Amino acid sequence: MTEEELDRLATIIADALLRERKRSPGEAAGTWLPVPVRPDLGSREGALPVWAGSAQSLDDVAPGRSSKSEPQARVSTAELTRATRAAAAGQDSRPPHSAAGRSPRAWRDRPKAAASIEVSIGVSNRHVHLSPTHFRTLFGSAAPTEERALVQPGQFAAKEIVTVTGTKGRIEGVRIVGPARGETQLELAFSDARILGITPPVKASGSLGDSAGGVTLVGPAGQVMLERGVIIAARHLHLSPEDAKRWGLHNGDQLDIRCGTGSRAATLHGVLVRSGKEHATELHLDADESLATGVRTGDRATVLAWRRPAEQRRPLVTERDVLAIARSGQQIPPGAILTPSARDRARAMNLLPK
Ligand SMILES: [Zn+2]
Repeated sequence: MTEEELDRLATIIADALLRERKRSPGEAAGTWLPVPVRPDLGSREGALPVWAGSAQSLDDVAPGRSSKSEPQARVSTAELTRATRAAAAGQDSRPPHSAAGRSPRAWRDRPKAAASIEVSIGVSNRHVHLSPTHFRTLFGSAAPTEERALVQPGQFAAKEIVTVTGTKGRIEGVRIVGPARGETQLELAFSDARILGITPPVKASGSLGDSAGGVTLVGPAGQVMLERGVIIAARHLHLSPEDAKRWGLHNGDQLDIRCGTGSRAATLHGVLVRSGKEHATELHLDADESLATGVRTGDRATVLAWRRPAEQRRPLVTERDVLAIARSGQQIPPGAILTPSARDRARAMNLLPK
C-alpha cells in the first residue's frame, strides 16, 4: 500500500469514526483521542500555573465542565486521520480509550488528569561531566566549584569551563556540570558535533557503550584526550516520584510532547521518562531542539501521548484484514481496534467474540 493510499484510507476511517460518534453522542464515556483537561498541579511551589504566560494556549484548554459530564466531540478529522494513520502503520501511541468506548486493561490505573500533562522545559547547553581524575588533570584541583544550582537535585553548573577541540574545529567555554561522575561524559547538540567533526550517537545519559571519542578537552592545567564518552543526549523528561505517581507514568515510558506555541511549534516523539528520587520534574531538550521548536527554559510543554515499550500494541483491523482472517480460519486478535466496516463485516460473518 502506498503512502497516499494509506492517507486516503486513514481519512475514510477517521470520517467514519466521526460519523459514528455523531450518531450516538450519549453512548460511551470513551473517546478515540484523550480529551484535554486542565491538569491538577496540586501545590507545587515555584511552578507557574498552567494558565500563566507562555503556557497560555487556547487550544489546550478544554471547555469548562465537570468531570462527570460527557466529553464533547472536539476531535478534528485531521487529528483522527493522524492517529488512525499511525495506528495503521503500527506506530500508535495506544490511546487510553478505544473508539468503542472501552479502556484497554493496561491503562485502567491511569489517573484522569493524565489526559493532559504540562511540564516545564529546561534547555541544556553543551556541557561536560568529569571524572575526578579528569578534573584534576584539567584544573589541578580536587573538585568543581558551584556557580549555580540546577533544577535536578544536587547538580550544579560549575565555575570551571574547558575548550573542546576536534579534527574540524573547536568550541570554547564548555561548562562543567558537577558533582564529579564515575566516567567523563560530554553532551553536545548535533550542531556542536558538526563543528568538531564527530558524529556521536543519540544516547540516554550514562549509557556510553558505543559513545564517540576523538576530541580533546583543554583546561588551564592540562589536557584530556577522550576515547569515548561523547553523546548527543536523548531528549528526556526528568520526573519526580510524586508526579510520576500522580500522572501514572513510569521510568522508561516514552512520550510525545508538544513544544512551542508559534509557527515553530512541534511535537517531539520518543521522549524518555527518567523517574526516581534523584529527579525533579523537568523536560530536558538540547540547544538544537530549543531553536527548532522556538522554546526556552521555563516554557511549558504538553504531553500528548505515551507508550510503554514493553507492552504489546493493539492492532488496527480493517475490513480487508477481517476477510483474510476469515479465509485463514484465524481469530481476530484480542484487544484489536476494528474499523466500523471491519466491525460490520466481522459481525456479519459471526467472527466477533460473544
Ligand atoms: Zn537531564
